[in-house]
Amino acid sequence: MTNPLLTTWDTPFGLPPFDQIADADFAPAVDVALQQSRDNIAAIAQNADVPTFDNTITALETADELLGRVLGAFYALAGADSNAAREELQREFAPKLSAYASEVSENTALFARVKTLWDQRETLDLTDEQQRVLMLTHRGFVRSGAQLSGDDATALRDAKSRLSVLGTDFMQNLLADERSWFLPLGPDDLTGLPDFVIATANAAGVEKAAGGPVVTLSRSLIVPFLQFSDRRDLREKAYEAWGARGANGGETDNRALAAETLKLRETRAKLLGYDNFANFKLETEMAGTPAAVNDLLMQVWAPAKAAAEADAKVLTQMLHADGFEGPLEPWDWRYYAEKRRKELHDLDEAELKPYLQLDRMIEAAFSCATRLFGLEFAPLEGPTYHPDVRMWEVTRNGAHVAVFIGDYFARGAKRSGAWCSAMRVQTRIGGDIRPHVVNVCNFAKPEEGKPALLSYDDARTLFHEFGHALHQMLSDVTYESISGTSVARDFVELPSQLYEHWLEVPEVLAEFATHADTGVPMPQDLLDRMLGAATYDMGFQTVEYVASALVDLAFHNGPAPADPMQKQAQVLEQIGMPHAIRMRHATPHFAHVFAGDGYSSGYYSYMWSEVMDADAFDAFEEAGDPFDPDTAKRLEETVLSSGGSVDAADLYVAFRGRLPGVDALLKGRGLAGSA
Ligand SMILES: [Zn+2]
Repeated sequence: MTNPLLTTWDTPFGLPPFDQIADADFAPAVDVALQQSRDNIAAIAQNADVPTFDNTITALETADELLGRVLGAFYALAGADSNAAREELQREFAPKLSAYASEVSENTALFARVKTLWDQRETLDLTDEQQRVLMLTHRGFVRSGAQLSGDDATALRDAKSRLSVLGTDFMQNLLADERSWFLPLGPDDLTGLPDFVIATANAAGVEKAAGGPVVTLSRSLIVPFLQFSDRRDLREKAYEAWGARGANGGETDNRALAAETLKLRETRAKLLGYDNFANFKLETEMAGTPAAVNDLLMQVWAPAKAAAEADAKVLTQMLHADGFEGPLEPWDWRYYAEKRRKELHDLDEAELKPYLQLDRMIEAAFSCATRLFGLEFAPLEGPTYHPDVRMWEVTRNGAHVAVFIGDYFARGAKRSGAWCSAMRVQTRIGGDIRPHVVNVCNFAKPEEGKPALLSYDDARTLFHEFGHALHQMLSDVTYESISGTSVARDFVELPSQLYEHWLEVPEVLAEFATHADTGVPMPQDLLDRMLGAATYDMGFQTVEYVASALVDLAFHNGPAPADPMQKQAQVLEQIGMPHAIRMRHATPHFAHVFAGDGYSSGYYSYMWSEVMDADAFDAFEEAGDPFDPDTAKRLEETVLSSGGSVDAADLYVAFRGRLPGVDALLKGRGLAGSA
C-alpha cells in the first residue's frame, strides 16, 4: 500500500489528506523524506558544475520540499490533537531532524559553494531578494561555525553541546522546585479567596494528596492567591517560595548553571569572532546592537518607574489603613492593586461575556481584513484533523489567496496557549504556491446548541493570531526561507500585536460585540470599563518586565559575570529598582534566558514589538481613520507582503518614514507624562 503522505495530494488546494493518513504513516514518510533531503544536499554539494545561484541557493531552498510537506501535516496534528503515538513520534523525530540540520551546516563542500557565491556576489547580477537570500544563507553557515576548523571547531561543538545539557538541566531543576513546594491551607487560611481560587487550591491539594487545599507555585494559582489572600503572613511565605525557585541550594540549585552558561555563551561568541554574546545574538535582530536595546529599555524605564512609585504611594496608604506599619512589600502589591482595581474599574466577566461571541469575533477579524486589505472569506469543505476545525478559502478580487484554518476550542489533546502555524508557506519556486495557515486557540467549548463566548483576553488572542495569519497569507516573495513570518524575532510580533488594535476600534465593537441573546450592542459604560481594565497597573507590570530585560542584556553584553547573582544585584541597584517590586523572572528561574538560548539577550523583544505596534497603529490614527486605505496599502506593501526579503528596520522605515519611537507605547500603557 502506498503511504498517503508520499503521494500527490488530490485534495482542495493540496491540503493534507488527513482522512487517509494514519499515525503509522508518519515515521516511514519522515525516513523517506529525510533520505530525499540528504540526496538533494549531496547532489548540490558534489555538483561538478561551478556554483551558480540556481544550482546552489535555489536548490537548497527546495531540498527539503517533501520533508516540509510531511512535517507540516505532522506538527499540525502533534500540537493541536496529540496522543501517545504522536508524542512518541515527536520524541523520535527530534534527534533525527537535528542530526540532519547539523550535517547540512557542517557540510564543508556545501559551504565552499555558498562562500564562492558570497565572494562573487557583486558580479552575479542578482535581484535584491536573491542577494538577501544569499546573505542569509551565508550568514547562517558562518554563525553555526562553518568557517572554523581544527581546535576551534571542536571547541565550538563542545560549547554548544554542553550548553544544550545546561539548558535542559536548568529547566528540570526549575520544574522540580515548582513541583516540590506547596503550602497547605487550613480553614482560617482561606480568607479573602474567591471561589475559583479555592476550587483551584482544592484541585491542587488532590493532586498533591495533601488532604485539603494547597497553594502551589504554578502561576495560575499563586498569582490569584497573592491577589486575594487577606493573610499577609501567608502571602509572604508563598511569595518568598515563588521567588526562591532555582535558588534553594542542593541538587536543584540553578545559580552555578547560570554562571557556566554565560561563560560558555561568551566562548561561543568569541570563537565566531564577536566581542560578546549580545553582539552575536542581536546581529540578526531588528534592534541590531546592545546599545539600541538598552536605549529603548531606558526610555521606557524612567516613566514606568515614576508611574509605579506613584502607585506605590496609594497602595502603601491602603496597607497602613489596614493597620500594618512599615513599607509596602512585594507580597502586598498584587493584593492592594486588586482592591484598588475593583474600586476603579470593576469588571464583571459574567456581564461582559455574552457580548463576545466567538463567531462574531471571527467575523470581526475577517471584516477588518476585508476593509483593510480587500480579503474575502468563504467557508471551505475539505479534510481536517478534527471535527472542530473550520476552514475558509481566502480570496481577493476573485483570485485565490490562501486557505485559512481555525481550530478554536480547547481539548485535552491540544497543548496549551494559542499559536499560528503554516502547513504550507507562500513561495514562487515550482509554481505559484499559496499558503495554508492555521490558527489554534484554547477557548472553552460551549454546550451543544449554545454560542461559544469569549473573555476579552480571548478576543484579543483571536485577533493576535489572525495578525500572524495575515503575515503568512499576504506574503509575496519568491523564496521559502524568507516567506511570511520568517523574519527577525523582534519583528515577528509586529503584525500580530498591531492587529489587536482593531479589536479596540469603537465601530468594530459596536458592530460585532452584540449580546448573544438580545443582539444589543455592548453598552458604552461596560465598554469603557473593559478597555480601562486592560491597561490597569501598567507601572508595576512594565517595571518588573523591563528590570528582567535589562538584567538579561547586562549578562550578555560584556565579559561573562563570574557571579550572576551579584551582577543582577548591581543592575537593580543602578536602575533604582522600587522596593516593593521584584524582577518578573529572577536569574535562578529565568527560563527564557537559561533554558535554551531562544530569548537570551532577547527578552527585550516583547517590548520592542509593543513599541512598534503602538507606533504603527498611530500611523492610522494620524491619517484620521483606522481603516485609512493608503496607510493599509502601505502596511501591506512594506511589512505584510515582504517576509524577510528586506531588513526589518528598512521595512519599518518604508512603512512609517522613520524608526519607531516610544511615545505611542507610553500613551497606550498610560505611562505618558509620568517621567
Ligand atoms: Zn504572537
